[in-house]
Amino acid sequence: MNCWNCGKEINEEDKFCKYCGKEQGKKGKLHQKPMGILLEFFVIGPFCLYHLWKSPIINNRDKKIYTAIISGITIVLILLLSYAVSIIIKYYMTMFSF
Ligand SMILES: [Zn+2]
Repeated sequence: MNCWNCGKEINEEDKFCKYCGKEQGKKGKLHQKPMGILLEFFVIGPFCLYHLWKSPIINNRDKKIYTAIISGITIVLILLLSYAVSIIIKYYMTMFSF
């Protein structure tokens, strides 16, 4: 496990970091927590994966799960968007072709 504050290697059961003294456990900066990364996803999209993989408080198994979910949602959104664009193009084609 790594400290959420300084990133140094500490024991899993340590309540406080022995290097910087910060309390461990569920604490962490917002962009290191799953909730913060989810919020980031709504704002910057798949770029939130950068913070996800840098986060020291999310384990590798969860990182893979979150990456899969974020990629899935991104692909669905792209498909929906291209579908919407094709409908708009068709609409204008029928509007202006006499
Ligand atoms: Zn620390």
